[in-house]
Amino acid sequence: MPKRPGQGIPVRRRRPRAHPDGADQTRPRESPVWLFDLDNTLHDTSHKIFPQINIGMTEAVMESLGVDQETANALRTRYWKRYGATMLGLVRHHGIDPHAFLRRSHDFDVGPLIRAEKGLAARLAQLPGRKILVTNAPLHYAQAVLRHLGLLRCFSAIWAIEHMRLHGHFRPKPSVALMRHILAHEGIRPQRAILVEDTLANLRGARHAGIRTVHVFHPGTPFATRQRGRPDFVDLRVNSIADLLGRRRPIRGH
Ligand SMILES: [Mg+2]
Repeated sequence: MPKRPGQGIPVRRRRPRAHPDGADQTRPRESPVWLFDLDNTLHDTSHKIFPQINIGMTEAVMESLGVDQETANALRTRYWKRYGATMLGLVRHHGIDPHAFLRRSHDFDVGPLIRAEKGLAARLAQLPGRKILVTNAPLHYAQAVLRHLGLLRCFSAIWAIEHMRLHGHFRPKPSVALMRHILAHEGIRPQRAILVEDTLANLRGARHAGIRTVHVFHPGTPFATRQRGRPDFVDLRVNSIADLLGRRRPIRGH
């Protein structure tokens, strides 16, 4: 299992493709490639898991830096606002080991905390085309959630925060460079790719990389309720994966 930066992990072996870009002229239309976010997209992370991660993150900062809770929370807020993730600030300014930090901050059993739509594996199977998970969460956590949801084998690859390094720096979503890198590495033309995601900033970044976008509305996602209507970088807005299955026709023509 490759662990190099800038490379997602394959979940299962894919059949070799004759054309790296799927440039098979005999097919009338190339099948799409679905890039799925994880948290608040495939499961209701706000229900019980985000509160647990919140506790774990603060404790991990306190232990990593030897600071009290108030200082840890202040640093978390500062780095989250500046870099989009606490871990990035801790790596840049304090030289902490990102892998140890991610493991400590997500060190809990997700099983009892998960809430999600029923029958997700069957629903994802109804979507034609390859599926790839693209999450800013750590790999061990993403795998545990997918395993509990019965979705591990639905995805041909997982791109977690550990894989989102470009030129020696972490570049998580909404980095446009990251999205272009993933497309290039997976051999996907941007026009074929569709990002399904609850965070609008990430959808905007994907659109800048030429990717089509599905916004999964979740009321627990930060800034979710501020947005009224559908932004111009969102092709389709849905309330669930079941909703996506019923309404995907408008994004298929391309
Ligand atoms: Mg999300």
